[in-house]
Amino acid sequence: MRKKNSTKKGNGVAPPAKKLHEPRKPRETYRLRTRLIHGSFATGKWDYDHHVVPPETRSATYRLESVLRGSEGFVGFGTQAGQRDPIYIYDRLDEPTRGMLEENLAVAEHGEMAVTFSTGMAAISAAICSVVKKGSQVVAHRVLYGCTHSLLTNWLPRYGVRTDFADLRCPGCLEKVLTKDSRVVYFETPVNPTMELIDLAAVRKTVDRFNKGRRDDDRILIVVDNTFATPYCQRPLEFGADLVVDSLTKAIGGFGTDMGGAVVGSQKYYANLMLYRKDFGGVLSPRNAWSILVYGLPTLATRMVNYQKAALKVAEFLEKHPKVTRVCYPGLATFPQADLARRQMVASDGKFAPGSLLYFEVKGSDKNPAAAGERFVNFIAERAYTITLAVSLGQIKTLIENPYSMTHAVVPEKEKRTIGLLPGGIRLSLGLEDWHDIIADLEAAFEAV
Ligand SMILES: *Cc1c(COP(=O)(O)O)cnc(C)c1O
Repeated sequence: MRKKNSTKKGNGVAPPAKKLHEPRKPRETYRLRTRLIHGSFATGKWDYDHHVVPPETRSATYRLESVLRGSEGFVGFGTQAGQRDPIYIYDRLDEPTRGMLEENLAVAEHGEMAVTFSTGMAAISAAICSVVKKGSQVVAHRVLYGCTHSLLTNWLPRYGVRTDFADLRCPGCLEKVLTKDSRVVYFETPVNPTMELIDLAAVRKTVDRFNKGRRDDDRILIVVDNTFATPYCQRPLEFGADLVVDSLTKAIGGFGTDMGGAVVGSQKYYANLMLYRKDFGGVLSPRNAWSILVYGLPTLATRMVNYQKAALKVAEFLEKHPKVTRVCYPGLATFPQADLARRQMVASDGKFAPGSLLYFEVKGSDKNPAAAGERFVNFIAERAYTITLAVSLGQIKTLIENPYSMTHAVVPEKEKRTIGLLPGGIRLSLGLEDWHDIIADLEAAFEAV
């Protein structure tokens, strides 16, 4: 790759003038779906305008034509200038395939910058740990992705960072736990797996009140895990979140082949996140970045449209089924927070986008929901063609799991009841199969419970 300014300094030779493929109107005026397919590969920064598909770069270290260039690379690392016109030194610091993916992720989440990580958890730990210090308090919603919960309760206390949990659906509850030590308010919306929503604008309002009079480096930041909704359905930064984290392993990657994570937000967090990533070392491999850049992100919009169509059909089928006690899907008119869903879960073209995940509870003929849930999922695991018993979500294949005994098994029994996580509860992540077939497989499983 020839970077536009790569020979600018050091030998004084200007690069040959080259006509780049410039779109007839600025990239920013094209719709998101289009931008995620075409990215910014054919710009002076990347100069991949002869590639229809951007190349997968694989180089642990980079040739430096002079000591001066090496020095400029180190000094410029993590700065905005270094981001605009990078001097590559070593993969763990910065690397072009990842850089292209990061530009597109920032576009997707309507952020100024994105920094990728090796997994969603690496991104979540970086977002939180690059902000807190000894004595800080994190306030988190009471239901969280299991490993995030473990990060906050097992690891951070060892470094003097405590977490208090609250029901962030009620703004008054947040207010009660915030203290002078609060630095991060952390949550997912929709919440995994119960699909309840947290009002981003309401949290912003409360946090703004607490931030009054605080220094910039002492402000409380709102960090939102957007993995369930994906930037197709919801862009938390637009509602006032400071940082968004996404597991790229899920719907953004989409095909279930690679792990990855990203933190997206405003430019002022870039340097800190890059430094954190350099020193803690959880970089996304360029190989994974390439798959997500070339297959995952460009197909996100079109996959989500189809996932959602299936999710709504399945939710409507489940709602009418006599063996189902409850269906939680933000797209249903009966969803308890339907108004909030319509306000918050909106695609960038303005269409309501309730997502690809749903949660439902089954009851069996013997009135024992725990046994019925397990029988239901086991029948699917053994006999269904279109539905697979597996954790993860957002893939082209429909996935099912039983959160009570699987992903959320570690949550104490009493807590499970309070948060509405019951033994017969089932999480379904819709894929791209024909929804008639998915419903037929579900119907067969209902007959078996
Ligand atoms: C999977 C997931 C994560 C963690 O992502 P990994 O890529 O598995 O590390 C975090 N949050 C949510 C909501 C998830 O579903």
